Amino acid sequence: MTLDELRHTAAHVLAYAVQDLFPEAKPTIGPSIDSGFYYDFERAEPFTADDLSKLEKRMHEIVKRDYEMTGRRVERSEALDRYRDNPFKVELARDIPEGEPITLYTIGEFTDLCRGGHAKSTGEIGAVKLMSVAGAYWRGDEHNPMLQRIYGTAFPTQQELDDYLAFLEEAAKRDHRKLGPELDLYSVEEEAGGGLVFWHPKGTLVRSIVENFIREGLAERGYQPVITPHVVHEKLYETSGHLENFAHGMFGPIEVEGQRFRLKPMNCPGHILIYKGQAHSYRDLPIRYSEFGTVYRFERSGTLHGLTRVRGFTQDDAHLFCTTEQLQGEFEQTLDEALRLMKAFDFDDFEYFLSTREHRGPTDDIAEAAIRNALESRNLPYSLDEGGGAFYGPKLDINLHDAIGRKWQLGTVQVDFILPERFELKYRGSDGNDHRPVMIHRALAGSMERFFGVLIEHFGGNFPAWLAPAQAVIAPISEHQLDYAHEVAAKLRAAGFRIDVDESNEKLGYKIRHWKTQKVPFILVVGKAEAADGTVNVNERGNEAKRTVPIDAFAAELREIVDARR
Ligand SMILES: [Zn+2]
Ligand SMILES: [Zn+2]
Repeated sequence: MTLDELRHTAAHVLAYAVQDLFPEAKPTIGPSIDSGFYYDFERAEPFTADDLSKLEKRMHEIVKRDYEMTGRRVERSEALDRYRDNPFKVELARDIPEGEPITLYTIGEFTDLCRGGHAKSTGEIGAVKLMSVAGAYWRGDEHNPMLQRIYGTAFPTQQELDDYLAFLEEAAKRDHRKLGPELDLYSVEEEAGGGLVFWHPKGTLVRSIVENFIREGLAERGYQPVITPHVVHEKLYETSGHLENFAHGMFGPIEVEGQRFRLKPMNCPGHILIYKGQAHSYRDLPIRYSEFGTVYRFERSGTLHGLTRVRGFTQDDAHLFCTTEQLQGEFEQTLDEALRLMKAFDFDDFEYFLSTREHRGPTDDIAEAAIRNALESRNLPYSLDEGGGAFYGPKLDINLHDAIGRKWQLGTVQVDFILPERFELKYRGSDGNDHRPVMIHRALAGSMERFFGVLIEHFGGNFPAWLAPAQAVIAPISEHQLDYAHEVAAKLRAAGFRIDVDESNEKLGYKIRHWKTQKVPFILVVGKAEAADGTVNVNERGNEAKRTVPIDAFAAELREIVDARR
């Protein structure tokens, strides 16, 4: 029995419990999902938290009874007759194609129309818990009736359920949508519209550190920074094929003087225009244009999520123009740059996914070979998703696992023979003839918004000192030490650190608690003794031991930590 089968069986158990306790509710469908299972019911009254706990109790009894799951094949007429009072099941029974078996499955006193894939008996469910209830349209269509979806989860053992619940609790503590406002990093203002991010001073500081880190790497690798407009003529996206293939993801046209403009959904056409504006010889290649390029994409309001699903975001984007022979080398240095980025930000667990195109062209073999050779030359194992690639060509996705094991898709590197063709790009070869360059599109952090969201969750808001908006805060014990506090701050700022001073009239205990909730790496307490000796009392985040050290010694220590990115 698979976990999916166990969880889908738990969905039957839920529907059984609902039939017992809320016989007026009409069951519809109940699949297993990544986080457990759900079952959708039609019922006028909403299910309350109290209802869920009653249902859960009844489910535990059904599991304990260890009912055998028995199935039998029936004629369509029997299924239609059985569900004559349930239009949803009737629709499901009608939709089963002619010739396919129609099956009913029974546990105890509850029978459900289902195609199968179950545990042998309800007793195989080691642990089950109901999580929440939410509205869901029948078959996901907003023109259909609204149903109530009860979510639950199930595991083979109680221990696995306990571990999962502990994981959820930890994930909730790290949720960037909670930490973002608490740490005053960013906000999404409903007044301005969903999915549009306002970076507050502290978040902007962290972002600029990330951007500078990326810029340094790009400069070393010979990338040239460019900046392109946010609004450009729609024709550009006709030529690129985005209007044809990606219109659903773009904001609508903006009319100016009878011309149609678009918010840019991608940076590529802009970089292409810069390339195209000059003649290039094979000696100029590869040309690498990079831009922290802000793009706008239409997402349905229901799918927006904090920093990870937004309508406007900034990619750490770059486009490389090279010859076919240079493709592999360019891919290799891109992989090196991706590794440098991930390692610096404390991620050491990645996965590489190579997706190939469904409709293969003659150039796909060249592109794929270059990507595979690059991966192999760096000893990076990868998985293959055949036919999962975008319309340009094969692409490589970089997924990483965060501190609590969750997977995030960040960077993408993509080989493209198509846009150079559409925009008629060329370079003069050593043979004196014109040739088409190949393009690589690459964004390694992906989007600054998403990357920041992942960083917040990965660190649980405890940014390491090199990233933290304030690296230390000086907390004077009384107002008499305020001057000394400013003196310490000035010295440390002069040494290049980001320092706050707590000027409030609060008691020391309150100040320390406050800055701990703000997750500042170091709180430096200064009282009479410290002011007299030129020292600070160091409270390090996550370390109960306090110590008093001279200012210079602290500065030297902090310098070492920051430079090592610890
Ligand atoms: Zn079933
Ligand atoms: Zn691109």
